[in-house]
Amino acid sequence: LSDRLTSALQTLSRKGRLSDADIDATAREIRIALLEADVALSVVKDFIARIKERAKGAEVHGALNPAQQVIKIVNEELVTILGGETRRLTFAKNPPTVIMLAGLQGAGKTTLAGKLALWLKKQGHAPLLVACDLQRPNAVTQLQVVGERAGVMTFAPEPGNGVGDPVDVARRAIDEAKRAQHDIVLVDTAGRLGVDEELMKQAADIRDAVSPDETLFVVDAMIGQDAVTTAEAFRDGVGFTGVVLTKLDGDARGGAALSVRQVTGQPILFASNGEKLEDFDLFHPDRMASRILGMGDVLSLIEQAEQHFDQEKAEQTAAKLGSGQLTLEDFLEQMLAVRKMGPIGNLLGMLPGAGQMKDQLAQVDDKQLDKLQAIIRGMTPAERDDPKMINASRRLRIAKGSGVAVRDVNELVNRFFEARKMMAQMAGRFGFGGGGGGSK
Ligand code: GDP
Ligand code: MG
Repeated sequence: LSDRLTSALQTLSRKGRLSDADIDATAREIRIALLEADVALSVVKDFIARIKERAKGAEVHGALNPAQQVIKIVNEELVTILGGETRRLTFAKNPPTVIMLAGLQGAGKTTLAGKLALWLKKQGHAPLLVACDLQRPNAVTQLQVVGERAGVMTFAPEPGNGVGDPVDVARRAIDEAKRAQHDIVLVDTAGRLGVDEELMKQAADIRDAVSPDETLFVVDAMIGQDAVTTAEAFRDGVGFTGVVLTKLDGDARGGAALSVRQVTGQPILFASNGEKLEDFDLFHPDRMASRILGMGDVLSLIEQAEQHFDQEKAEQTAAKLGSGQLTLEDFLEQMLAVRKMGPIGNLLGMLPGAGQMKDQLAQVDDKQLDKLQAIIRGMTPAERDDPKMINASRRLRIAKGSGVAVRDVNELVNRFFEARKMMAQMAGRFGFGGGGGGSK
């Protein structure tokens, strides 16, 4: 995938601007590349449509060239589809929290049970493993071994009673957890090599018996496109609240992640990447996205370029604030930026120490903002730069030109000077800006 994409994007980077033809050509390449990575067709189609849409309407960030811009968009969309921020496990209000694992045989459920147990234990929980896979002869022992390694208790049917009933085991395990004060119960279930009704029914019966707070669908990332049908079968047969991808240490290209996520709408919570109990982590959509793209280096370059750019801008503004050199142009820019972000009141509440200013600005509604904007637009660049020069006759001219009363212009200018003073004070207090603080 990365080779294709890299070559497509290198073609782009040689051109100065992003044209529709460029975007279409890149989209075709990305499409092929995703299909090669075993992403399901419907998912690819959706994805490409989004990319095209966004690339066409995208503002080019000052710090990036068009090729980097496209990579950024592709990456962002991937991260969005993969789930944005990492979702955490949901814990029950009244312990124990019941987590049930479901998936095909060999998906990595039993191994995951041990990994999760260890992970949870390290966070101060006291998990109980429950052996509900009574199908395979060694399944119970396997879970017990894993449990010992993780240093947690395993609940299993007494040996010698023949094949036990997994539903019964699950039920008794919950009682045991309450008795022995385990706050988490991890239920390992049986899988089959293929999706079959008996398996689904058993899993559904266990589910009904223990009412899990989380049912995790465990899926081997190596199965690629097949992940979609398997996920759909488990979604319909058992239902699940989250996904765990396993065997990411293999040469899995990540296609399964994208497909399962998109088709089932359920978040991917964890990633397993090895046979050892420690080979386990929260699922990070951003890391998976760069893995799918195979462009980790490029992505970090982009991030650096952007950060550097933003930091320069922020430093410029901070320096202006601190030294009291804020211009009306900056003031307008700030107001427009704030407006773009939503209701002013909410935002200002988030600023540290913005108490007094909040009251003042909370009264500024959209209509007033329009008026302020009109007034500032009615000024010459020199006036915006150096508001001190705005004397009485200039005020009259500005008022006439922007269709407001002189009183309105006076008010704006006064408010601006007040704000500038306040900001300079704040900047001083927070130790940024040009006012002699040594900090960066
Ligand atoms: P289950 O049938 O779903 O319970 O699957 P198991 O937990 O028994 O795992 C099946 C095989 O896959 C075992 O040999 C595990 O050691 C192996 N396995 C599980 N998870 C991973 C993983 O993340 N990476 C690798 N390389 N192997 C894994
Ligand atoms: Mg197993």
